Amino acid sequence: MQTIDNFNFAGKKAFVRVDFNVPLDENFNITDDNRIRAALPTLKKILSDGGSVIIGSHLGRPKGVTDKFSLKHILGHVSELLGVDVQFTNDCISEEAASKAAALQPGEALLLENLRFYAEEEGKPRGLAEDATEEEKKAAKAAIKESQKEFTKTLASYADCYVNDAFGTAHRAHASTALIAEYFDSNNKMFGYLMEKEVKAVEKVMNDIARPFTAIMGGSKVSSKIDIIENLLNKVDNLIITGGMTYTFTKAEGGHIGNSLCEDDKLELAHELREKAKAKGVNLVIAVDSKVADKFANDANTKICDVNEIPDGWMGLDIGPKTEALYADFIKNSKTILWNGPTGVFEFDNFSHGSQAVGEAIAEATKNGAFSLVGGGDSVACVNKFGLADKVSYVSTGGGALLEAIEGKVLPGIKAIRGY
Ligand code: AMP
Repeated sequence: MQTIDNFNFAGKKAFVRVDFNVPLDENFNITDDNRIRAALPTLKKILSDGGSVIIGSHLGRPKGVTDKFSLKHILGHVSELLGVDVQFTNDCISEEAASKAAALQPGEALLLENLRFYAEEEGKPRGLAEDATEEEKKAAKAAIKESQKEFTKTLASYADCYVNDAFGTAHRAHASTALIAEYFDSNNKMFGYLMEKEVKAVEKVMNDIARPFTAIMGGSKVSSKIDIIENLLNKVDNLIITGGMTYTFTKAEGGHIGNSLCEDDKLELAHELREKAKAKGVNLVIAVDSKVADKFANDANTKICDVNEIPDGWMGLDIGPKTEALYADFIKNSKTILWNGPTGVFEFDNFSHGSQAVGEAIAEATKNGAFSLVGGGDSVACVNKFGLADKVSYVSTGGGALLEAIEGKVLPGIKAIRGY
């Protein structure tokens, strides 16, 4: 497989798919530019080799050309961070785009307008009438797949090589994230540095595991994490199931959960998962005590109680001190740690202590040589909130992509480059 370090970009044009899907305020100021910064090493390497870059990205979820989602809003900031006056083309497959790409000189960069202004990027029909028949839907799907080929070919025609540095969209089989790779032979397509790091981190928790391996799965709903839990049962030594999911698991075994979050249609499944864990020799670890509240608010009255004896009118919004110690024990004795999802409603300061304790235990284990991967939305917010981001081995930039990788799915953006 080709690697970015081994590739000499001198005199070459590279199509680089990045994830510049950054949050903007109402005046189009970027409120968090981490995703742009994350792609800089790749872009800078190409430019300093004497190559030129055609940068492709999406921004938001437009359903057509929408000024609000134009990448022109971030052009100035990209130029500033890259240290190059980045050119722009306001239609990613226009003749102007082609001629600007063709005219690029070594060291120059061109940012294409939002790829998702075209339905062809995602390959899904748009604007179908709500009452469209199955026939019509099928025809529209076939038509977009056909025009997607032309779209992809046009994007590929701008460049000599393809670099994918957009892990955040690696779980999508879109034109610029996966299909485009077919137009480049294996010597001329590669991961960018960010993508390399993400793939390596996933590899370390999925295949190249130092044991014991502890995964901490938190968050609100069992239903959204079933596939991940099932896959992790084949990988881990200890699986801590925490957050709002706790109460579905304790109720399933006859515990009293008061007004805590519960998915009653998942009680049987929760029981089955416990049995599966047992059969596989995995320690399935559930809270023993809870910090309960008399309303869903930061200023609620609180007390600590046994997780199986939550009084009516009270709800578990975080783990209690005994559980913090229990989790910390497993975490500190681990060599591989994966964390996704808080132990409680960490957005409320009064219910963030458990998540902070987990973060700190992970930081300590990491200091003692464990590999720790944190990812998937809220746990990233957690480590940032508690100032622990640089005390874990790796914080993933990919929410959905990371979760799908942990589910054991092959990500199209990764497969398109390395073949699996
Ligand atoms: P998820 O998006 O499924 O990872 O869930 C994250 C959300 O779960 C966060 O917004 C937390 O506030 C919420 N959460 C965690 N623990 C609880 C709990 N015990 N009760 C209600 N919500 C919770």
